[in-house]
Amino acid sequence: MKQTPKVGFVSLGCPKATVDSEHILTRLRAEGYGIVGNYQEADLVVVNTCGFIDSAVEESLDAIGEALHENGKVIVTGCLGAKGDIVAATHPQVLAVTGPHATEEVMAAVHAHLPKLHDPYTDLVPPQGIRLTPKHFAYIKISEGCNHRCTFCIIPALRGDLVSRPIHEVMHEAESLVKAGVKELLVISQDTSAYGVDVKYRTGFWNGKPLKTRMTELAEALSEFGVWVRLHYVYPYPHVDEVIPLMAEGKILPYLDVPFQHASPRILKAMKRPAAAENNLKRIQAWREICPELAIRSTFITGFPGETEDDFQRLLDFLQEAQLDRVGCFTYSAVEGATANAIADPVPEELKEERKARLMELQEGISAERLTRKVGQVQTVLVDELAEGGAFARSYADAPEIDGLVYVQSEDEIRVGEFLEVEIVGSDEHDLVAVPVQD
Ligand code: SF4
Repeated sequence: MKQTPKVGFVSLGCPKATVDSEHILTRLRAEGYGIVGNYQEADLVVVNTCGFIDSAVEESLDAIGEALHENGKVIVTGCLGAKGDIVAATHPQVLAVTGPHATEEVMAAVHAHLPKLHDPYTDLVPPQGIRLTPKHFAYIKISEGCNHRCTFCIIPALRGDLVSRPIHEVMHEAESLVKAGVKELLVISQDTSAYGVDVKYRTGFWNGKPLKTRMTELAEALSEFGVWVRLHYVYPYPHVDEVIPLMAEGKILPYLDVPFQHASPRILKAMKRPAAAENNLKRIQAWREICPELAIRSTFITGFPGETEDDFQRLLDFLQEAQLDRVGCFTYSAVEGATANAIADPVPEELKEERKARLMELQEGISAERLTRKVGQVQTVLVDELAEGGAFARSYADAPEIDGLVYVQSEDEIRVGEFLEVEIVGSDEHDLVAVPVQD
C-alpha cells in the first residue's frame, strides 16, 4: 500500500501569518496529507515566513536554511516571499516561493513536488470543478457584488458591495480549466473594470511573481495560458483604455462587452450608471484607432421612466454613430425594490416595445453592414457544435449564447473545441458563413 505523503510545517510571524498557516494545513489535511512535527519524517517542508523587521527576516532565512539542511525539500510562503528575490538569492535550492495569503499557490507547489494519493472518495470531482458549459469554454467569475447603485438594478441589494476574488485564486482556477482542455476563458463579474477596487488593487502572487488585483494585470496574466480570453461587463472608465493595446497585440480577444444601457445624458444620470459622464463616442473612437478590429457588444434599455422621444432619438443617434458590432435591447422592467420605479413619467408598455423595435431595426442594418465587410477575410474560429454539412463555430467577435455564429461548411472531419482557420464567404444580420482555409 502507498504511504501517506507527509508534510512538515514551520509557522513564523504574526497572527495573520498563523491564519494563513491554518488555511494551508487545513487544505493539506483535507487532501489526505499527513502533518508531521519533525524534519526526518517529512517528505517536504513548508516554511511560512515573516519579513516585517530585520530580525524577523534573519529568523525566517535561518529557518529556511535549517529546513533545507535537515530535509532538503522546502517550499517558502509568507511575507518574506513578498520581499523581492531575497529568499531565492539566499537559498536558491528552495522549490517554490510565494507571498502571504497564497494557499492555492502553496498547494499547487506541494502537488507538483509531492503528489497526493488518489482517493476514490474525494477525487470524484475533477480539479477544474463541475462545469455546466461545454468542455472547450468556461466562465470565470472574478468578483461578486457591485459598488454601483444603478437605479434599475437590485443586485447590490441582493449580493452586497464588490468583493474581488484573490488574483492567485482566479489564476489557479484558470490554469486548472486550461489544463482540463478549455480553449476560451470568459471573464465575468458585475463590473469587471472595478476588479480589485475593494482591496485597493492589492498585490497578490502568481508563480512566485507579484501580480496586482486589477483588470489589466489579470487580462495580461490570463493571456499567458495561450487560450482565448474574453472580457465581459466592462464599463467605459478611462483605465479601460489600458486593455485595448493587449487586444491589438493579440494577447486577449479584441472584444469588449460594455453595457452602455443608454446614450442620453439625462437618462444615464437618472439611471446612475457608472462612467455616465464619460464621452463614450470619443472613447470608442480612440479604442478603434488602437485596435481597428475591436468588436464591441452592448445592451440598452428602452422606456426607462421619464425617457422622452428626444432622449430616445439621442440613443438612436448614438447607435448610428458608434456602429457597435453586437447589441441587445430590453424594455424597462420595474423590478421590485428598484429605486427607478419611483421616477415620474413611466413610459407606457407599447411605447417601450415600439422603441425597442425601432432600435433593433436600426441596429440590424448596422450589424448586417459590418458583417458584410468581413466577407473575404480569413479568421480563426472555435468550433462549438457539429451541424449538417459542417459545424457552428464562433469568431473572436462572438461570445457564446449572446452573439452570432459562424457556420462552417465542410465535408471534412471537424471536432468540437478545435480552432479552425476559415474564409468568410457569406453574411446576414447576425451570422457569418465560412469555409475552411486549405493549407
Ligand atoms: S453596475 Fe449597475 S446594473 Fe451592474 S450590477 Fe452594479 S448596480 Fe447593477
